[in-house]
Amino acid sequence: MNDGKICVSVFAETAEDFMKNIHRAEKSSDVVELRFDLLPESELENALEKTCDLTSEKQLLFTFRPREQGGKRDLTRTEREHFWCSGYDFCASWADVEIDMVETVSHWLFKKIICSHHDFSTTPANLVEIYENLKATGADVLKIAVRTNDIADSIALWKLLETAKSENQQIIPIAMGEAGKWTRILGPAHGAFMTYAALDAGRETASGQLTAKELVETYRVRELDENTAIYGIIGHPVGHSVSPAMHNAAFKFHRLNAVYVPFEVKNLGEFVEKFVRPETREIDLNLRGFSVTIPHKRAIIEYLDEIDETARIIGAVNTVKIENGRLFGYNTDAQGFIEPLKTAYGDLSGVKIAVLGAGGAARACVYALKKENASITVFARDLKKGEALANEFQVNLKEMPKTESQKPKTDFHDFDVLINATPLGMKGEFENETPAFAGQIEKLKLVYDLIYNPSQTSLMSEADEANVPKIGGLAMLVAQGMAQQKIWTGLDAPLREMSRAALEKLS
Ligand code: NAP
Repeated sequence: MNDGKICVSVFAETAEDFMKNIHRAEKSSDVVELRFDLLPESELENALEKTCDLTSEKQLLFTFRPREQGGKRDLTRTEREHFWCSGYDFCASWADVEIDMVETVSHWLFKKIICSHHDFSTTPANLVEIYENLKATGADVLKIAVRTNDIADSIALWKLLETAKSENQQIIPIAMGEAGKWTRILGPAHGAFMTYAALDAGRETASGQLTAKELVETYRVRELDENTAIYGIIGHPVGHSVSPAMHNAAFKFHRLNAVYVPFEVKNLGEFVEKFVRPETREIDLNLRGFSVTIPHKRAIIEYLDEIDETARIIGAVNTVKIENGRLFGYNTDAQGFIEPLKTAYGDLSGVKIAVLGAGGAARACVYALKKENASITVFARDLKKGEALANEFQVNLKEMPKTESQKPKTDFHDFDVLINATPLGMKGEFENETPAFAGQIEKLKLVYDLIYNPSQTSLMSEADEANVPKIGGLAMLVAQGMAQQKIWTGLDAPLREMSRAALEKLS
């Protein structure tokens, strides 16, 4: 447990909706921030009047920022003074004010004063000076929210927590942007006065903000403390990853003091140096391990002390465990891939399997299928890349069928199982594409699409049309995550909870 508060930021287009949102926010917050500066000018007076009549069970925080500090409009000093000294009685509320307004907004008018500084473009080099200037105002709480473009940017901000703690100064440090998301999750556990949250997904008031539901239910932000074991996912991008939902569900199930957070990492070497390695790190988050995703699965290898045989042969690491300052690498993709296939199909010995694609996932598939003595053919659009994989694992190679036109297509009538390890069908630009049509796959016994988003891909719809059983990538995602949990915690991971969390996140 920690003393940090969750503050939900509320805005709306009308005073009426503003009030409705305040009541909705009360349910999931300790503090409700009323963003008067995001209301249309015509609704402002009405909203102030309604707020005056409001009886709220939660602490209200007033905010009225000019455009350069994140507000919607250009505001003159007179307009701002008029707002803060409106004549209404708000002395039970808190106020978030900019440094030039602190003297105007006194404790007579508001119960607590938060003095804030925002930088939406960068992490300024003079953070300490900004902190000192805010502190000199005598405000109760200092809020510094700055943009981080890479995860290492957030270190200087995080260090302010230590400074503030030693000076008994309350502080809210926020690293905006995807690369700073972790500060929003871990801040309260490390002494931050408050963390901000959105009322609804898609209605964030700042970049990188999570919803209050995510903070409380997925990340259990209230329960974390300085001893919490930290795990995470490193990659770029990781913003839409399902892994935090899945792994945190497992930690919650086992009641472990552990959390799994997204680490948006562009510069891998810098991350390992400044966050991970005990000899060089600049902050110690009590990091115990992490998942590795695109584009770092191969590059991470050079930073590890040891890797297991599976990861070495596949040539990629998706799991790192940190123990006594040493970094151990594993690959759970192969295990995650093969378990659902064996469950669905049974013994794979001699089974004729077509693997589409010759990238990282295909390598893990081929490795796992070889161990099961399956008869494997890799289909690659780039035969040179395919050759490297086929030669290394001693499997057959064919050119990837062309599906762009409805004209002559390779069929898979000689195969028992087809595995899609290409991005064809994945959410985004390839969503409506399929690597094979119903007529090509009607003789198969099983189609296995590694894509998990969407859960029903175009290929899976073709399998339905051809009356061929199919499995999607969610089973693999969960199975590889369960294997990661076992590596990190030694415990058997809860299949039902992890699947449910992943599905909920995807939907
Ligand atoms: P990757 O390393 O980029 O490999 C992708 C492969 O697909 C490459 O061989 C690539 O060929 C080929 N490809 C790309 N676009 C193509 C196209 N338009 N037509 C034909 N082939 C094409 O990616 P990956 O990590 O292996 O991932 C592949 C898929 O598996 C992704 O959809 C991913 O979501 C899925 N996956 C799922 C899980 C899970 O847990 N369910 C885990 C890992 C991966 P070139 O080499 O010529 O570009």
